[in-house]
Amino acid sequence: MNSELKIYNSLSKEKEVFQPIVPGRVGMYVCGPTVYSNVHLGNCRTFVSFDIIYRYLQFLGYKVRYVRNITDVGHLEGDVDTGGEDKLSKRARLEQLEPMEIAHKYTVGFHDMMRIFNVLPPNIEPRATGHIPEQIEMVQQILDNGYAYVANGSVYFDTLKFAEESGHYGQLSGRKIEELISESRDNLKKQDEKRNPADFAIWIKADPEHIMRWNSPWSVGFPGWHLECSAMSTKYLGKTFDIHGGGNDLKFPHHENEVAQNYGSCGCTPAHTWIHCNMLLLNGKKMSKSDGNSIMPEELFSGNSAHITKGYSPMAVRFFMLQTHYRSTLDLTDEALQAAEKGYRRLMEAYATLLVLPFGGNGEATAQDQEIRESIASVHNEMNDDFNTPKALARLFEIVSRVNSWKGGQISMEGLSEATFAELKTTFHTFLFDIFGLQDEVAAGSDNSFKTIDGLMHLIIDMRADVRARKDWAAADKIRDVLKAVGIVLKDGKEGTEWSKE
Ligand code: AMP
Ligand code: ZN
Repeated sequence: MNSELKIYNSLSKEKEVFQPIVPGRVGMYVCGPTVYSNVHLGNCRTFVSFDIIYRYLQFLGYKVRYVRNITDVGHLEGDVDTGGEDKLSKRARLEQLEPMEIAHKYTVGFHDMMRIFNVLPPNIEPRATGHIPEQIEMVQQILDNGYAYVANGSVYFDTLKFAEESGHYGQLSGRKIEELISESRDNLKKQDEKRNPADFAIWIKADPEHIMRWNSPWSVGFPGWHLECSAMSTKYLGKTFDIHGGGNDLKFPHHENEVAQNYGSCGCTPAHTWIHCNMLLLNGKKMSKSDGNSIMPEELFSGNSAHITKGYSPMAVRFFMLQTHYRSTLDLTDEALQAAEKGYRRLMEAYATLLVLPFGGNGEATAQDQEIRESIASVHNEMNDDFNTPKALARLFEIVSRVNSWKGGQISMEGLSEATFAELKTTFHTFLFDIFGLQDEVAAGSDNSFKTIDGLMHLIIDMRADVRARKDWAAADKIRDVLKAVGIVLKDGKEGTEWSKE
């Protein structure tokens, strides 16, 4: 087995062999949600991707400190650093609640959703509003080091100075400082306090109507959005740490500005490896709530959305996410979800089969034994290659075909050793549950067998079809109503009748 983990580093734009700063330990910071509304499925994709990375690092034996923050202040509308209204304040005004009530409500909702998707909690989940003193201290350090200036109570980062001295600005996003300067000129009116249009606010003086405000040496105001992640990652992981992650859309300006702030305060850039997940698309377009092109997880589970024909379970959706590499875009369509649902069931059923299949080898390891060992090694190798979940799944499915052939008697287990058979079961268990984080919804029925329920449901559906063919509508409706009362919904369509749990 190739035991070297390689990770694509967005900073170097290359796959690199992962070497933690402290052997055996990994410090990982991931930008968490802005808790001003319910998480959409795009957010979930990013957190599921990092969950798999977290799980795999632990599987490799690393002691991981995983920090994922909660943004509850400073993230302004339109992701601009001046002029836009704070997303939380705006929501608080609209819902007539305290900003902290908004933050709490949507943090609870976010945690619930993470539990539903079986995403492990991070080790530390710091909130921006809980770290105002640390952020003020960082602003002061940046000022003391000459990388920022005060204008009318706000503090701006001197981007040009950082770019000239470090040569780092734009490295993550590929943006050029000269382009940023000319791009921002149109906007100059709003930014007249800045020395240079590419500068960004790290402390913002609050307008009288702004409700989230704190005392600082410069004004009563609030921190810039990018500052929280610099301050909290430094506090919990140190000035330099191993991995920093987030969605692709955060590369600029959020992460680019984080790098600048860390450099400005301590003279070094924060993370060695930057990992960026690609976007979830809905029918080919980026999923985004502000554009109305989004689907909420609850809608996906219930099927209550114009974009889908039926509901999908959380684990079928998690499996759907695993089928695409985290650096590729993932397009959510009804057909792709249906295929994922089938794939998920097939995988779980193969594991269940493996558990009950009697060992039929003759104890002597031959070619078949060697093939299985190679397949197991290839599953690991694919994960070591920048967490390639779709390829690791494809390798597992090669084994699934063999397991089904053993079960059906098309091939025998001859030439398989007992040790390899045991290792196969362990590999399935480890990958399905510990690394991919799937849960066995298929076997979660009362009699531990989805197959049994599905079989019974098809029997009932067939009997109801007969009843309907005889035009006995009362009996057909009775069957549907009784099922509904126990939480099973029948949906009649062109292709026949489908059943799902309510
Ligand atoms: P936000 O709540 O907007 O701060 O975003 C939380 C996380 O979700 C960030 O890491 C974003 O990059 C990520 N994100 C936002 N939209 C999408 C999307 N359509 N697909 C994948 N990740 C997303
Ligand atoms: Zn962040």
